[in-house]
Amino acid sequence: MFAPFAAWLRREGVPFQEDAAIAPHLYFRIGGTVSLLVTPASAAQRRGVLARLAADRLPGLVIGGGSNIAFPDGRVRAVVVLAAGEEPVPPVLLPGGEAVDVDAGARNQPFLAWCAANGVAGLEFLSGIPGTLGGAAAVNAGAFGRSMADVLLGAEIVGEGGAVGRVDAGDFAFRYRDSRFKLGDGALLTLRLRRDPGAAEAIAAKVREHLEYRARRHPSYRLASAGCFFKNPPATAGKASAGRLIEECGLKGAVAGALAVAEEHANFLVNRGGGTFADLQRLEEEVRSAVAARCGVVLEREVIYVSLDGRKY
Ligand SMILES: Cc1cc2nc3c(=O)[nH]c(=O)nc-3n(C[C@H](O)[C@H](O)[C@H](O)COP(=O)(O)OP(=O)(O)OC[C@H]3O[C@@H](n4cnc5c(N)ncnc54)[C@H](O)[C@@H]3O)c2cc1C
Repeated sequence: MFAPFAAWLRREGVPFQEDAAIAPHLYFRIGGTVSLLVTPASAAQRRGVLARLAADRLPGLVIGGGSNIAFPDGRVRAVVVLAAGEEPVPPVLLPGGEAVDVDAGARNQPFLAWCAANGVAGLEFLSGIPGTLGGAAAVNAGAFGRSMADVLLGAEIVGEGGAVGRVDAGDFAFRYRDSRFKLGDGALLTLRLRRDPGAAEAIAAKVREHLEYRARRHPSYRLASAGCFFKNPPATAGKASAGRLIEECGLKGAVAGALAVAEEHANFLVNRGGGTFADLQRLEEEVRSAVAARCGVVLEREVIYVSLDGRKY
């Protein structure tokens, strides 16, 4: 199924691997292989690859930092395009200074350094969230009371059939830690973000403050995880955060194979080395059923899973 696409990649000089291990590209370090792992050498090359992939209607998905996603243990029959790790494209401050255009494959932390240097405030909440701006937009990542839905104005995307076009924020259908790009098709190429004016030192100080807060409260970034595993229950339910509920059930330190509920933060499931997708699913079910039985809340997964036929769920 993938041979013609692989031949096209070869002709275009796009780097890729067949039957490639996916785990080294994911924060969780969980997953088997994927049919084709494409690692474009530049943002321009990525754009061409994503357009072609959509035009060929092959099963495929794009991942950024791989910090919110887990793949199954077997062989995923799909094309995975890595949208990170190439030479970064400098962000562009739009005339008038009210917005900035940034490549969806840009990593959050270097982008924030650029924001500080260029007086772009309002995005500091991304400090310490691993991954790319595209991934953050797709999952509506957030912290410290703000999320991408508060700052995103629009995007350039590859849509159905490979057509490149612009969408505005309304087309994202943002919800808590969700947008239509999280589980749906469509690849983000560039994002347009709102800029609040700010002084370089104040922006840098806020970034540092957020990073320090995270260092105190979260498990080490050296542990393999995908951040908060479950969504917090809706505030309207009047319930505590997912982490608090899991902790109340005495589940800190619970294990399934090499997966464990982190001692430092009960909503982080960590892979202690060599963990499998089966381990992860067992621990997920154990936590979900314990919390449902004791607290009457059915926790919803925040982390994305991929099926063996390359669909996100
Ligand atoms: C230690 C740690 C701390 C974390 N803290 C937070 C936090 O505070 N708040 C928070 O919200 N999250 C947090 N996370 C989760 C995760 O880092 C964020 O959700 C992050 O924004 C995901 O970005 P990514 O590039 O890694 O996305 P990936 O995991 O690579 O992908 C996530 C989704 O985005 C899609 N996607 C990625 N790039 C594109 C693109 N260019 N076009 C279309 N779709 C795309 C993927 O297909 C997938 O559906 C944390 C994770 C870790 C490991």
